[in-house]
Amino acid sequence: MIKRYYMPTQVFMGEDCVKSNSQLFLQMGKKALIVTGKNSAKINGSLDDVLEVLKSNGQEWALYDRVMSNPTIESVYEGAAFAKSENVDFVVAIGGGSPMDAAKAINLLTCQDIPEDKLYEGQYSDRILPMIMVPTTAGTGSEVTPYSILTNHRLQTKKSIGSPILFPKIAILDAKYTDNLPKEITINTALDALSHSIEGMLSINANPITDSIALESIRRISLCFENLKSGQLTRKQRFELLYASTLGGMVIANTKTTAVHSMGYSLTYFHDIDHGRANGLLLGEFLRYLEKSWPERIKEILSAMGMSTVNEFITMLDELLGEREKLTDEEIEKFASIAAKSPNVKNSPIVPDMEDLIRILRNSMNR
Ligand code: NAP
Ligand code: FE
Repeated sequence: MIKRYYMPTQVFMGEDCVKSNSQLFLQMGKKALIVTGKNSAKINGSLDDVLEVLKSNGQEWALYDRVMSNPTIESVYEGAAFAKSENVDFVVAIGGGSPMDAAKAINLLTCQDIPEDKLYEGQYSDRILPMIMVPTTAGTGSEVTPYSILTNHRLQTKKSIGSPILFPKIAILDAKYTDNLPKEITINTALDALSHSIEGMLSINANPITDSIALESIRRISLCFENLKSGQLTRKQRFELLYASTLGGMVIANTKTTAVHSMGYSLTYFHDIDHGRANGLLLGEFLRYLEKSWPERIKEILSAMGMSTVNEFITMLDELLGEREKLTDEEIEKFASIAAKSPNVKNSPIVPDMEDLIRILRNSMNR
């Protein structure tokens, strides 16, 4: 099989790199649509920095600050209606994966008339506004992926829109915005990033480039495990997590995710479990499942974290996750059957069937 690696997003990183790269904003046009969540960007300094740059550049903006976690299809249509009325030239997303994903979909729906029933068909034209992404969590890597993951109430799950036109033009990484991220969100998002890099290594689309990036990302996150447990992270470690999460995004942008994400979506949809936590709950048992047929690959992943057994990995996850939510037998069957229909389940070389999915879910949640 021919393998390829593609990454069109330019990445800028370092302290104060929004303000020190004001020309990046200037090149984009006269008026920005700023897409963000309700509160955090107003507190962590990220919105102030972007507004200062736009003001000093003499650029205008319209602020859309209504993005909720796990954005819904309805909400991005609402955002697009707002963007259309504001005649914007480019999009700046500030926040975690939710505002970044919402911004991609809002952008698409602002530039193209796509009815809801055609949204997932992927038949898009090239029309899209240039996007700058400023992540303020260290987890999703959405700043470098071509995906927008939306909550789909009709299908009762989360489903991804994917297209190369959704790659942001620019990602700006400044860990100072993550300084006051609460412990739980820090852990959950770090587990999302870890999951991306590990799942990327377990994907049929993995290649030597994504493997190198994934191993580097896994190694850097693992060096923060102890501090994640205590919740005491230095700025340098915050940067390590942010950088590792962007690396994880570069991995899945090419490999996609696997059954872990597919099953995790139900934990989020039906139990309101944070996206990263959902993946963290399932990751250990997925490794145990694959270890039987692919021991050398699992060993490679474990040794990047300085570990030698899957049990050791699960013990570490337990310390980060605390008590696990419980599922009923009916829920386990239902979540397994929803995951079985998701295309990403088929992304690992050993494809779990219904029984495997049920076992992974049961062993992960009801131990
Ligand atoms: P999120 O839903 O974006 O944010 C979670 C919470 O963290 C929100 O309450 C947010 O507040 C707060 N927050 C964000 N930055 C903060 C900061 N610096 N300090 C304090 N609080 C902060 O969570 P996320 O885990 O980053 O993103 C999850 C979403 O990304 C899911 O929908 C998931 O499916 C998606 N995702 C996408 C990709 C992709 O490739 N596109 C990959 C993985 C996951 P505010 O709402 O006030 O901002
Ligand atoms: Fe994810």
